[in-house]
Amino acid sequence: MHKYKKEIAIGFIPVLLLFLQLYIGLNVIPIFISALVLTALIYIVRSRGNLAAIGNERRSKPRPPAPMSFEEIGGQERAKQELIEALDFLVHVERIAKLGIRPLKGILLTGPPGTGKTLLAKAAAHYTDSSYVAASGSEFVEMYVGVGASRIRDLFKEARQKALKAGKGSAVIFIDEIDVIGGKRDGGQHREYDQTLNQLLTEMDGIHTDESPRILLIGATNRKEMLDTALLRPGRFDRHIAVDLPDKKGRRHILDIHARNKPLAEDADLNRIAAESFGFSGAQLESVMNEAAIYAMRDDEEEIALRHMSMAIDKVMMGERTDREATKEERDRVALHELGHAITAEVVRPGSVSQVALSPRGQALGYVRHNPQQDRYLYTRPFLEKQIMIALGGAAAEELFYGDRSTGSRGDFDQVLSIVRSMAESGLTELGIIDERMMTPDKWAQINSSILDELMSRVKRLLAERRQVFTSALDVLVREETLSGDSFRELLAANEALPVQEAAQDII
Ligand code: ATP
Repeated sequence: MHKYKKEIAIGFIPVLLLFLQLYIGLNVIPIFISALVLTALIYIVRSRGNLAAIGNERRSKPRPPAPMSFEEIGGQERAKQELIEALDFLVHVERIAKLGIRPLKGILLTGPPGTGKTLLAKAAAHYTDSSYVAASGSEFVEMYVGVGASRIRDLFKEARQKALKAGKGSAVIFIDEIDVIGGKRDGGQHREYDQTLNQLLTEMDGIHTDESPRILLIGATNRKEMLDTALLRPGRFDRHIAVDLPDKKGRRHILDIHARNKPLAEDADLNRIAAESFGFSGAQLESVMNEAAIYAMRDDEEEIALRHMSMAIDKVMMGERTDREATKEERDRVALHELGHAITAEVVRPGSVSQVALSPRGQALGYVRHNPQQDRYLYTRPFLEKQIMIALGGAAAEELFYGDRSTGSRGDFDQVLSIVRSMAESGLTELGIIDERMMTPDKWAQINSSILDELMSRVKRLLAERRQVFTSALDVLVREETLSGDSFRELLAANEALPVQEAAQDII
């Protein structure tokens, strides 16, 4: 019976009112109207409450931040180590308070895109058992003065509330692309940016050791030199951690992490992929593994093989294959151009060609993939000269066969000129040690031609001596579209009067 209590009460009220009106003569109209207004009010408040509850649920439910630990981050050993040392300030609060050490307020992660800065910030939150709030510098850029600043205030407020709600003692705020708001203030031109930055500085100054929850700000940028000095001074972002592109060991580690949930075939040698992906960021390596899995699926295979990974490297490096249809003449010219690069590369650096391809990708109609034998961070003059020779190989081959060049060498020449520039700026040319400001356009032209003329004639001579190789490799390349490094070396060796190694020494 108590199930129907509400209905009985609702039925009882009009009967009571009717009784009061008819038998006692009381004017019940004002009571009736007030009851109606009261019910309406209760209904509105309740439905608002429900909406708010739904809103809260929506905001908080679908994104439980996946706990990210430092183990999930490949390479970056030094960055991880430095970060953990800095975070220990947040973990051992009593000790640092006892010694009177001021709290660590900001850590700046600097490095190229996709190297794992966001991952490090998430791992920092996990390591310190903090709640995590993230934003990107561009979110604070608004046309209206003051909006960015109020967003900063809201961000800090949100971080504190989130930590309190989750019962955490601290919160990590991560701001990616911090240079967008933290750029140098120029006093006037960009008042909105200045206000946003000022607000950020104010919030940072408001962080205290004894505050609960404690706040740690982690900023990320790849343009540290752009940041306002006020942001970098002690007491603000005073820990700077470089997050660089991974070395070979780091790349292997990252590949291992992203291969964990993927079935690999026996030939899938991750060491080889790590060696071939010099200069790749963590994000690009993740993409290599993902694309390789997609290629395996396209081939209807259960496991990812080495060739899938190799194709994935090409895709990440050069872009997806395009459908551009080249004419027969163009294809022949591109094939000879690429063979020019490949033959030069094999002669000056035996064993370095990993693949010659005649398939259009991105802007290129063909390409040669090289095998970096080891990661390098220092370059000598002979090394750079070989690099220039390889880049000139394409144009030299076109001249050899057609007597002229094409626009296909433009990218090669850009590369060549930037190598000459860095040689000159590093004091590796006959100009000796120079300051860039001493160089006039004439001087640049002079040094370019003195280096390039000599190297170009060496390359032409080297290719002319191997004319036969072009003829035999061209057929295969046009037919098959790709030529693996090993097949290319076989063709080269078969056509060589001298063994490859000796020929290399002969030329260099
Ligand atoms: P950006 O500066 O462009 O924001 P970022 O440095 O913050 O880049 P992340 O967002 O951390 O880069 O990395 C992007 C993705 O790349 C990650 O989700 C992860 O899959 C992969 N990745 C990057 N670096 C690593 C790494 N060191 N170990 C494992 N995965 C990595």
